[in-house]
Amino acid sequence: MKTLLLHLLLSTSALATGAAPSPVVIAHRGASGYLPEHTLPSVAYAHALGADYLEQDIVLSKDRVPLVLHDIEIDTVTDVATRFPGRQRANGHFYAIDFTLAEIRQLRAHERCDPKTGRPVYPRRFPIGQSTFAVPTLEEELQFIQGLNRSTGRDTGIYPEIKAPAWHRAQGHDISAIVLEVLARYGYRTKADNFYLQCFDFAEVQRLRRELGFQGKIVQLVGRYGAGENEQAATDDARDNSDLLAPARLAEVARYADGIGPSLAHLVAVDATGHAQPNDVVARAHALGLVVHPYTFRTDALPKFSSDARALLSLLFGELRVDGIFADQPDVVRAYRQGYSR
Ligand code: CA
Repeated sequence: MKTLLLHLLLSTSALATGAAPSPVVIAHRGASGYLPEHTLPSVAYAHALGADYLEQDIVLSKDRVPLVLHDIEIDTVTDVATRFPGRQRANGHFYAIDFTLAEIRQLRAHERCDPKTGRPVYPRRFPIGQSTFAVPTLEEELQFIQGLNRSTGRDTGIYPEIKAPAWHRAQGHDISAIVLEVLARYGYRTKADNFYLQCFDFAEVQRLRRELGFQGKIVQLVGRYGAGENEQAATDDARDNSDLLAPARLAEVARYADGIGPSLAHLVAVDATGHAQPNDVVARAHALGLVVHPYTFRTDALPKFSSDARALLSLLFGELRVDGIFADQPDVVRAYRQGYSR
């Protein structure tokens, strides 16, 4: 009874002070382990599973409407190739920016597939072609999340990522300015507001601060990314900004960003037997006042150095001491956190 009271008191005071549990659970593209990524059902499910933040990847349509989609190319997660045959570019890919919102509305979204084989990237997930899903706009999704926050009494945060800003500028559109305007309109402006903005492009992160006057929290993403930042994209346009984790560069990042989003592999040194030991990245980031939110926890696609999901969570929580985790299965991380904090 005493323990229960204490627990109640503690949880009430945590609520009162708004102290976030740690590490925070970031639903990666919604509850993408269970439903097609970035669809509103996936967002609703992640909200219901108790994620602390819901992630949005953002690209633009032809008429400059911010859409929640992971890639600038849309053939891996929609039926665009059958609905709009012949509208691909010379490289064979269909791009969101070549379609108006009215056209995007006609697409059916589905589980991510390999465009070459048509097979699902994660074979045990939601079946491709089953049920009906659509591509949401950023505004629709923000309304959806804020509606759920209201009806459930929760305050689930958002975690939008500006995709391929340089590429969008080359197509004639300033995606960052467009996204910031929508975010501000929905109350996401300052560090007191419950959100992080994320981007791979460090030049754009600097521009967000210096030129666009962005006042909210920013996470600098670190790792390999392409023009379209597509994990499955051809390597010809792929880049890697892992050098940002070097001491001098990380200090530079800390002048603009509030945190870093490295890949899991960036945070460990793997020995000859395949055993992972924390390297000094998290400690150096923390010394600079940066939070560390690595990507991506997937129970069905574990990193090579991890034997099972619990071992990986034990490493993340106990040894790496990260501040947040991007997860395709946010409930698994949350359940582990609940057990861990007791
Ligand atoms: Ca992302």
